[in-house]
Amino acid sequence: MNGCLHAYLLREVIMKCRMCGQEFPSVHYFQTSRTCTSCYRSLSPGEQKKVQKEDAPDLSHADARPVSIDGKDLVCPFCGNDTFWARQTLMNTRGLTFAGLEWANREADNYICNRCGYVYWFFRVQP
Ligand SMILES: [Zn+2]
Ligand SMILES: [Zn+2]
Repeated sequence: MNGCLHAYLLREVIMKCRMCGQEFPSVHYFQTSRTCTSCYRSLSPGEQKKVQKEDAPDLSHADARPVSIDGKDLVCPFCGNDTFWARQTLMNTRGLTFAGLEWANREADNYICNRCGYVYWFFRVQP
């Protein structure tokens, strides 16, 4: 996921304003990811809001939902958002020694913040 975001940012660095079509050498000239500062300033406050929303990189995930663990609602510690999407990650312990532990190659639950991408990890040994 990080890789994708990085590629996205790199691609956006050499860019054209989507409103006036002018090319700029860096994001410094841009107010949002796709609209240059001078175009942005010529807009009404209502239009500026719309442009901000349209140009925001989309980190959101269709399956995002509120999550609760043992009756406690999950809240992102970074941005305060409360919707997350889930994935599972195999805990591969090959090459490590966990003497007496039965948890090698089990899955951990990840909950990923739908706003900022913060990742929670939960690893629980089944009873
Ligand atoms: Zn422009
Ligand atoms: Zn967050």
